Amino acid sequence: MIETNDEALKQQVRDYWNAHPCGTQFTGLEWGSKKFFDEVERFRYGTQPFMRSLMEFDNFRGKRLLEIGCGLGTDLLQFARSGALVTGVDLTPASIELVQKRFAMEGLPVEARVADAENLPFADAARILAAYGFPLCRFEIVPPRQVFSAADRIGYPVVLKAHGRSIIHKSDIGGVVVGIEDRASLERALEDMRRDLERAAVLDQVDGYLVQEMAASGKEIVLGMSQDETFGPLVMFGMGGKYVEIIKDIVFRLMPVTDVDAWEMVKGIRSYPLLEGVRGEKRVDIEFIVESIQRLAQMVSDIPRLAELDLNPVIVTPERRRCRVVDFRMRLE
Ligand code: ADP
Ligand code: MG
Repeated sequence: MIETNDEALKQQVRDYWNAHPCGTQFTGLEWGSKKFFDEVERFRYGTQPFMRSLMEFDNFRGKRLLEIGCGLGTDLLQFARSGALVTGVDLTPASIELVQKRFAMEGLPVEARVADAENLPFADAARILAAYGFPLCRFEIVPPRQVFSAADRIGYPVVLKAHGRSIIHKSDIGGVVVGIEDRASLERALEDMRRDLERAAVLDQVDGYLVQEMAASGKEIVLGMSQDETFGPLVMFGMGGKYVEIIKDIVFRLMPVTDVDAWEMVKGIRSYPLLEGVRGEKRVDIEFIVESIQRLAQMVSDIPRLAELDLNPVIVTPERRRCRVVDFRMRLE
């Protein structure tokens, strides 16, 4: 079996596609010339005429579309031509450069960037979750100088987080500051964070700062999925936040997960009474949790390439409109 998290292997794949961007083997033409792109396109839809009907390019007008592993962006361009708002990610910088060149030639907008689907960028995972109806905190990912204008747009209080492909446990390295009330506090938070990141020797891995809406306080839960070698996808629910690994109050279910299963999962954790509220606390919106488990199950059945998903924490409050998915990680295979 291939170990898919093997960085060396990933680098080999990256190097290969960088040296031979998708499509370049078909033509003797200069990469990135108009002729070259036209030839790649002619080849693709000439040799695979079924592609046009299979992809339903015209059905995406006005819709957002994310292509993972977009290569030269040939299909992405067809979607954009029929009016879709397109984002393409690819492992190889050479491909992304060509995508940008191609779209510029056509005068069409595209968001194209290097990304690793095995560790999907926050912004892309956010779009997928939003499409499934999960309520996310408003956020922007910006360079340090722009955190202030981002915070103004989002509205205080905000949360500041270090953002980077290889930065995973943000709070462990001082990469999360919550409850920032004003500009002066934000300035301080940014300064302190940069100092902590420097001390942890990870400042060079930071490629931006996530400014995020501060969620109302509530109970932190975790929702997720993982792949079991024998049983296939497992859906997971439990008490979440920073203590998830210590408390280990989580339950798993095999697919399919019905509404009855989702209720059983929620009632099946030891901390269930905490959700009902203790000592005069209000009950949190437990129906929201049950619904979220079902949304997750829908994602699992729609996206067979989904290898791992962790929504941690999801903050659940007594009122539905204040519930938020705060942090997440998504891995495709
Ligand atoms: P990580 O898991 O990488 O350490 P998180 O983004 O999960 O970082 O943040 C850690 C903790 O900070 C969360 O469990 C939550 O308690 C708190 N937190 C983070 N973002 C927010 C937010 N937008 N609103 C409220 N609390 C937050
Ligand atoms: Mg987290």
